[in-house]
Amino acid sequence: MFKESTCDAKGRILVATQDIQPNTIVLQDQAILGLPDGYPVCLGCLEPATEKFIPCQSCGWLLCDNTCPYIENHQLECEVFTKSKFKIKLEDLTKRHMIYSIVPVLKIVLLKENCEKKQSVIESLMDHWEDLQENPQTIMLVKYMAAMFRKQLGLSWVSDQDVQHAFGVLKTNGLGHGGRSCFVYPTVCLLSHSCSANLDIVGSPNFQVTFRSKKLIKAGEELTWSYANILDLKPVIRNQLRTVWNFECTCERCLDPTEFGTNFTTQQCDCGGYFHEETCDKCLKHGGRIPLSEQSELLQLINRAPLTTLQKIESTILANYHYSHLVTCRYVMRMLDLLVELEEANNYKNKQLVTQGETLLKTLEKIDGRYGRPYLKYEKIFNLLFN
Ligand SMILES: [Zn+2]
Ligand SMILES: [Zn+2]
Ligand SMILES: [Zn+2]
Ligand SMILES: [Zn+2]
Repeated sequence: MFKESTCDAKGRILVATQDIQPNTIVLQDQAILGLPDGYPVCLGCLEPATEKFIPCQSCGWLLCDNTCPYIENHQLECEVFTKSKFKIKLEDLTKRHMIYSIVPVLKIVLLKENCEKKQSVIESLMDHWEDLQENPQTIMLVKYMAAMFRKQLGLSWVSDQDVQHAFGVLKTNGLGHGGRSCFVYPTVCLLSHSCSANLDIVGSPNFQVTFRSKKLIKAGEELTWSYANILDLKPVIRNQLRTVWNFECTCERCLDPTEFGTNFTTQQCDCGGYFHEETCDKCLKHGGRIPLSEQSELLQLINRAPLTTLQKIESTILANYHYSHLVTCRYVMRMLDLLVELEEANNYKNKQLVTQGETLLKTLEKIDGRYGRPYLKYEKIFNLLFN
């Protein structure tokens, strides 16, 4: 269905070799490594640690059980911890602990001497060290880890460069950031980002991961998925891509100021035009836009608002944002979420909400595809409420 290819700007990428229908399973991949991501977890299966966890019989680090199904994933560091007698004491199993951000780097480094096949994948991955090293704190952290691996864990063969590469690979290619575990996949790491991606992950990242198509993908088209939340303000997404993954996105949506005709994250001028950049594209009036921080705050408020709050802020939203703007879309999504739970939903059915719901679906389809998760969810709710 797809093959590996290369592109000047991005390096190795995946390209469809045939037309792929929407909602098709396109890619399944096995993780070469499952890693903790800052919180105490079982070093085998990566389940969050609880009081019921037991110390590994060999190294003493916490495991879910003697019969952990992914115990193999703990083997390499287990040998190192056993030999060096390196152990830590955890005061609170629910809190972040620095060592669980160091162990993932160690696990990647250990492949070098222990697993040729997986190491060749790690070696082929980009680490973006040239960007990462601009942060003095990162340089210090990596130096600290390298010294610790050599002195406290007895790994005299480890070089600073080994740790730099492992750290960079983890930051660039680790999937599952923000949760308690993170995975490195040999094929998935070739998927590049797009703010209107054609693939969506099924479930959440695990030792195995599956991607399906959200829209029709034409033969020759690049396979993409979104590293960030697609339903966010474009400048917020772009800033996140810049700070976490060090790149300027040049996807179709980023290059199109109208975001496929939806003006999803631009405000409308009184004349009917839109404020792309600082000026209205029709009457050339300057400014008139609500600051990004205010829009973000409003989005956060909408996400948790009860029905009474939504009703209070409705007129302000509608006075400032057109129907296909992200803020209005989120407002309508929240309304539909709440109404579907309510017995008296009938009382809220009105023409305006129906029109807003229709615009929401059209907008979601353009931004995220007819088979994206948000579209499928809100189409179902919309039909339940209004049809
Ligand atoms: Zn386990
Ligand atoms: Zn162990
Ligand atoms: Zn983009
Ligand atoms: Zn105007």
